Amino acid sequence: MSRAFNFSAGPATLPQSVLEQAQAEMLDWHGVGASIVELSHRGPEFIQVATQAEADLRALMAIPDDYAVLFLGGGATTVQALLPLNFAAPGQAADYVLTGHWGKTAIKQAKPYVDAKVIASSEAGGFRDIPARASWQPTADAAYVHITANETIHGVEFRDIPDTGNVPLVADFSSSIASEPLDVSKFGVIYAGAQKNLGPVGITVVIIRRDLLERAGQPRADILDYRSHVKGESMLNTPPSWNWYLLGLTVKWMLDEGGVEEFARRNARKAALLYDVIDSSGGYYRNEVATAVRSRMNVPFFLHDEALDKPFLKEADAARLISLKGHRALGGMRASIYNAMSEAGVQALADFMRDFQTRHG
Ligand SMILES: *Cc1c(COP(=O)(O)O)cnc(C)c1O
Repeated sequence: MSRAFNFSAGPATLPQSVLEQAQAEMLDWHGVGASIVELSHRGPEFIQVATQAEADLRALMAIPDDYAVLFLGGGATTVQALLPLNFAAPGQAADYVLTGHWGKTAIKQAKPYVDAKVIASSEAGGFRDIPARASWQPTADAAYVHITANETIHGVEFRDIPDTGNVPLVADFSSSIASEPLDVSKFGVIYAGAQKNLGPVGITVVIIRRDLLERAGQPRADILDYRSHVKGESMLNTPPSWNWYLLGLTVKWMLDEGGVEEFARRNARKAALLYDVIDSSGGYYRNEVATAVRSRMNVPFFLHDEALDKPFLKEADAARLISLKGHRALGGMRASIYNAMSEAGVQALADFMRDFQTRHG
């Protein structure tokens, strides 16, 4: 067996120890005689898994008690549609700061339910920067301000939490959750599909400041109502139990490795390695994002000649460095280097990039 270094943007690489534990427990979870995914979500075994995962995530991210934590299906995209239904009154506006592709989907999903205002955008510049807070033009009485903490495709990341005063800040953390310490109390809602930094695809974490659950929102079915999900402890219907279990193992692994402080250090070193190769390549490799907001999680880069893209990917594959092709919206390459990507993996990619330049320079 040989596992490659996998730079996929999502679903993304998982810690080998997590996969091994899941494999070991696959047929018989803790002596029960069945897999955890074959047992009732209301039975004591799965309740234990679910409760532990929440406790561990709360510990990992230092989530205060006045925040509810939900584990739901539907992905981050479904959250984007549910935000206005749950937190905006009929006719009320909601503010969006647009810094890349996922900000666009957030607006698209919200539009049927809310007057979605783009109060700042870096689109004209090709999503290579984040508009300064002072330039935002907030709407009076907006329901919330939405940002994408890390734009997974464009490789642009907020490095400071913007102050939105009394208007709750809602943030899509799908590709950067638990990658460094975060003051959760600065946010109204934090949400993330798990398949980048928290574990497997098929489960989404939604962290909601409890006072927001008192908002009436708009007419909606019970299954679209976050108050009901909180009351039902994320088990209004059958939850994605296998994904919840794998998420729990991944969160436990992060705690065992030293928590978000340790991952912040590793992630800073990993990102610095790649940006250094790019910046010191004399234009052979290129990243176009403003230095101050370059993502620590997704490093998009271009070779100076597109004709080199194919050989680059082919030789990288042969060196067991996989999934480096950039998103079709941008082209070029992208290295996603989430918590589960080791420093050894990033070092191997950096070495490969220098070597490729020497051989094809
Ligand atoms: C991947 C991603 C999404 C979409 O998540 P789904 O779980 O596929 O709905 C949304 N936002 C960001 C920032 C992402 O990286």
